[in-house]
Amino acid sequence: MSDYKIETKCVQAGYTPKNGEPREMPIIYSTTFKYDTSEDMGKLFDLEANGYFYSRLQNPTCDMVAAKIAALEGGTAAMLTGSGQAANFYAVFNIANCGDHIVSSASIYGGTFNLFNVTMRKMGIDFTFVEPDCTPEELAAAFRPNTKAVFGETIANPALTVLDFEKFANAAHSHGVPLIVDNTFATPVNCRPFEWGADIVTHSTTKYMDGHGTAVGGCIVDSGKFDWMAHADKFPGLCTPDESYHGITYAERFGKEGAFITKATAQLMRDFGSVQSPQSAYYLNLGLESLHVRMARHCENGLKMAQFLSTNDKIAWVDYPGLPGCKYYPTAQKYLPNGTCGVVSFGVKGGRAAAEAFMKKLKLIAIETHVADARSCCLHPASSTHRQLTDEELVACGIGADLVRLSCGLENADDLIADVAQALAD
Ligand SMILES: *Cc1c(COP(=O)(O)O)cnc(C)c1O
Repeated sequence: MSDYKIETKCVQAGYTPKNGEPREMPIIYSTTFKYDTSEDMGKLFDLEANGYFYSRLQNPTCDMVAAKIAALEGGTAAMLTGSGQAANFYAVFNIANCGDHIVSSASIYGGTFNLFNVTMRKMGIDFTFVEPDCTPEELAAAFRPNTKAVFGETIANPALTVLDFEKFANAAHSHGVPLIVDNTFATPVNCRPFEWGADIVTHSTTKYMDGHGTAVGGCIVDSGKFDWMAHADKFPGLCTPDESYHGITYAERFGKEGAFITKATAQLMRDFGSVQSPQSAYYLNLGLESLHVRMARHCENGLKMAQFLSTNDKIAWVDYPGLPGCKYYPTAQKYLPNGTCGVVSFGVKGGRAAAEAFMKKLKLIAIETHVADARSCCLHPASSTHRQLTDEELVACGIGADLVRLSCGLENADDLIADVAQALAD
């Protein structure tokens, strides 16, 4: 599959039926797998043979879908997780222990910020959050001897900041640690972070990849490029024997290409068990088959909406990385020249009350906390997800009281614009 273009991989990677086998990826809904001898099964437990024994560790349907996402990202190995939250948690926890430290962009998804800043701090892992527009010197100053990774989002949800990949990758690599990038909003159709220096990619597959608001899920992909053994002192979990797994040293046995995902599966999935169900993986695969077709329309609708909003006198400001004049337009042109995403942020003149009144009048566009699926939806964070904050606190975290986040779906752009226009009209 690696010679084919991304559109072909969206449709066909991950599953190639043999003579007489089902054309459609089968859903293997089985918790367990049968073996003739205990010796056969023992080899699986020792990671000496490939195969399945229990679906908490690995399941054939989930692995086929993970292989498709690995092909789309250009990685060497991937695993599905039960949610995007689980993917980001595993990706970081796979290499950071109690006493370690992570440098993260401050412009990330609120759920991830909470995971890092509250829950993982309780586990003894420290985080330094840097402004996405910091200078290389400021970024370098955030590192400590115990720093184990750098984290960022290709297009941040909901701030729509575009990651300066080269700045973040250079900083990570010059300190001997990997760059982990959450590529949820861009998807590999619009950006492949490995081509810009990222080492590990994560996804909330719940968003565009599934694309229909059907199944919650996540994914972790390894580029296979980071040389763990070259920095063995920093990554004892990968570079010294795992006594909980028969003394295996992952980086020795599975090399750069396989160590990260094998460890995350054998250790973290074994112990935390945030699996994606084979049924969810099947829905995810249906979404992936049309991802390249859908992303183009999401971007087209997003841009048309951003253009309309930027000329409307009821609108205070518009933020869309694909719109010329917006702050991250140049960065987006560099890293995502074919399109960004379907999410547009804007402010309604008149602040909080005007934003609430506007949303009440929408007919086609629904109010939801979700983003990035076929149906357009919008959210006013100040009166929903962030309602506990005062107007001053909202401004401090980059979300004004007037901010509306609009996720443009796959409907006709004129219909979406007409809905927004009538809701803005007096
Ligand atoms: C939604 C989202 C997540 C969390 O994913 P879930 O599937 O909801 O757990 C993580 N990162 C980004 C960028 C997201 O948009």
